[in-house]
Amino acid sequence: MRPVAPGCGSFSFPAMTAWADRDQRRAGTLSGSARKARTARIIRRDHGICHVCGKPGATEADHVVPLAEGGSDTDANLAAIHAKPCHEAKTRAEQARGRARRGTASRPREQHPGLRMKPA
Ligand SMILES: [Zn+2]
Repeated sequence: MRPVAPGCGSFSFPAMTAWADRDQRRAGTLSGSARKARTARIIRRDHGICHVCGKPGATEADHVVPLAEGGSDTDANLAAIHAKPCHEAKTRAEQARGRARRGTASRPREQHPGLRMKPA
């Protein structure tokens, strides 16, 4: 496993090639098995208590501060969470914030100039 300095996130390795960076983003930041092991570790650490609703029975690990908002990909920024509704609702809220940040939340769709139907 790659070492990750606390607080520096996971996309700051200058040696990493662009395609590798994209690949890591698409797959998340860990391989499937490493991710599963980490999720199990976080849930065990938090005794299965969901950090959103405070009830037991959490089945996933959540980035408390989303990576997209500068959170780190370390155990310190991970907490146990229920898949539904807690993680789902939190992710929806994060996606809405992301859209707002990119300024695409309420901009009307523009028609592609190449698709205008004109009589020939
Ligand atoms: Zn919950």
